[in-house]
Formats: sequence, structure tokens, C-alpha cells
Amino acid sequence: MGILEMLGLKRLINAYGTVTLIGGSRPNEEVLKAMAEISKVFVSMEELYRKVGEIIAKETGAEAAIVTSGAAAGVTLSVAACMTGGDLKKAYQLPNTTGLKDEIVVQRKHKSIYIYVAQIPGAKLVYVGNEQRTLPSEIESAINDKTAAVLYMYFDPQEGVVPLDKVIEIAHRKGVPVIVDAAAELPPVDNLRKFVKMGADLVVFSGGKDIGGPNDTGIVLGRKDLIDAIFKLGPHSLDVVDGQLTCFIGRPMKLSKEDIVGLLVAFLRYIKMDHEARLRKLHEMVDKVVNELSNIPCVKVSKYLPDSSHPVRPLIIPKAEFDLSNCVLNASELLELLKKKDPPVIAYSAHGKVYVNPQCLTDDELEIVIERFKEVFSEKCKNCPKKRK
Ligand SMILES: *Cc1c(COP(=O)(O)O)cnc(C)c1O
Repeated sequence: MGILEMLGLKRLINAYGTVTLIGGSRPNEEVLKAMAEISKVFVSMEELYRKVGEIIAKETGAEAAIVTSGAAAGVTLSVAACMTGGDLKKAYQLPNTTGLKDEIVVQRKHKSIYIYVAQIPGAKLVYVGNEQRTLPSEIESAINDKTAAVLYMYFDPQEGVVPLDKVIEIAHRKGVPVIVDAAAELPPVDNLRKFVKMGADLVVFSGGKDIGGPNDTGIVLGRKDLIDAIFKLGPHSLDVVDGQLTCFIGRPMKLSKEDIVGLLVAFLRYIKMDHEARLRKLHEMVDKVVNELSNIPCVKVSKYLPDSSHPVRPLIIPKAEFDLSNCVLNASELLELLKKKDPPVIAYSAHGKVYVNPQCLTDDELEIVIERFKEVFSEKCKNCPKKRK
């Protein structure tokens, strides 16, 4: 009996993207093979971390790198590293921040669902600017001797925010590190080098999104002293503080050797991939959706290139957009009907429109998506009250 059958679960068709709610990523055979291989043996986790970190650093032009249990854990540990600087006595007192730098400066427009995780080490978020814009001077005057770091949630291009290069210049002038949460900013693959090159001190990517590693992996790139500090706070670190052997704040963010190896193989595969060919392919997939569904009455289907107001990243991947403003179905009704199909199709909505993201679809699955949309609309159109008028 297969696992799905044993658990009574349905396989979902993912027209949404690399979202954790439905499993995030689909590691390929090469990744799974490496995970199976390392699963059979024991190794020094410290050496495994170091070697994998060295390879990733070399390939991204960063001074150092470390694998974490997801990008969110990467942000938590990056903040903790900036607060403690690798000092174990300071690490041991977290989340009590007495005597520590514990303020994290964030632009108000960067407030996102993930910002919460920056507070786990006990840090306080200091928001600057408003919903419309931030001024460089507001960042400058928010930085003081309690500031541990400036956190930049990378949603660019975003109007009204102080751009990353300017933030780095201001923060560095005041001797404060900059952490960039770039979890979902791949593709373009060049971003793996870009933010480090701009001078960001720590840059966080998700390993379970476009890289295609295990969904519970992430990467932090950056300054060697801070990456070392992350390791010291991390799941595989134990040390004596105040005469006691203890673990630290990263202990619940544990990774297995299978995770680390799986991420590495996925990463190496990702940087060697022909990204131009892949993007062309994604465009073709969207074109196909648009062509095959263009004759649904009252629904406007078109290719959409997301702008920064769009909640689902990455922006460079095109999506098929369903404008339902003349249809009797609204976006959530359409999503529900697609979800009721067998296998269920999971698309998503934003600003009242429905979107299909080709990022996680195979060609066969794309066919299923197209068929299900046709079915849902033909069922609805048959009984449409608008038609009878
Ligand atoms: C997805 C995402 C995260 C979380 O990444 P995980 O690897 O799932 O932990 C954090 N920040 C942003 C901006 C994201 O898009």
C-alpha cells in the first residue's frame, strides 16, 4: 500500500508555487539519492556543516555560508548572531536581552507575515517610516547603540522603501550589520551573489523554494564571523557556560544530515541549471493555459508578469491570470471548486483574481489543471443565470 493510501490523503496538483502549506518543494531523484546515501552512515555534523558551507560560499562569492532549517530559522539565527556576536555567555542568556544590543530596525513597508521570527531571540522590532514610504534619515536616526542589525525584507522593486544599497551604506556608516531576507528571491539565480556583493552582512534564502531542496532547509550567506556565530548558536553546538554544559537557541531548529546533503545537491543542481531555457519553458506553459482557456465566456485569461504589489514571489516567473469581474463566480468560489476536483487543483487568488503559477507543475499536471478549469467553467456556464436573461 502506498503512503497516500495508508493515510487516506490526496495528491494535490500544485498550481500555487513553493508554499509550505502544501509541501513546499519536490526534491528530484538526484537529491533523494544523496539523502538516502548519507542516511546509511554517521558523520561528524560539525565537519559536514563546514564542508557544505565552504562549497556554498565558494559558489556564491560569500565569505562563508551555513545551512539552516529553512529561511525563517535563518532569519531567527541571523538576528541572534548579530545580538551575540558569537559570545557564548550572551548566547546563553537569550531570550533575556539585558545588556545586549537588541533592537532590529525594519522599514514599515517590510512588515510581512515572516517578520515575527526576528523576535524569537528576544529582539525588539523598531519600525521606521510609514505604509507609504521610508526616508533614509528615518533609518539613520533609528540606529543607536542598542541596534543589533537592520533587517531588509527583500520585496524589491517596492516603491517608497529605501533601497538596499542605501540601507547598507547608512548601516555600515554606523557600524551596524544588515540582514537580508531574500527567502523567495530565486530565480533569478544571480541573486545568490548579488546581495552579498552589494555588501549585505547576512543574506538568507530558502532551500525549500525554487532551489528544490528539502522543504525544511535554508541557506545563510555572509560574513565569516557572523556565520561562525550562527553555528555556535545552532542545533549542533554544545558548550560550557557558567560551569554548565548547555545547548543554545538554535537547538529546536535542528537539521538532519540528510537535509544538509539534500540541500547541497539541490543547490549544485540549481546553479548549473539552464535558467534561460527554464524561464522560456515557464512562459510556454502559461501561454498554453491562456490559449486553451481563452474562449471561456465572461472570463478574461491573460499572461501576467507580477509587479511588486503581488503577494506571490518570485516576480520573474509569469502566471496565468483569471479576471472574474464579469463572471458569476468569484475568486474564492472558483478556488473551492478546483479544490473539490480529484485530484484537487490548488491555485491561488490575489486582489480578487485567480492565478495559476507554473513553477511547480509538470507538463502532465499542467494538462490536468487546464482540464479542471474547463470542467469547472463548463459546469458553471451551463447553469449561469446571466445566460437566461
Ligand atoms: C518563504 C519565506 C520565508 C520562510 O522560508 P522557509 O524556508 O519556508 O522558512 C521567510 N521570508 C520570506 C520573505 C519568505 O518568502
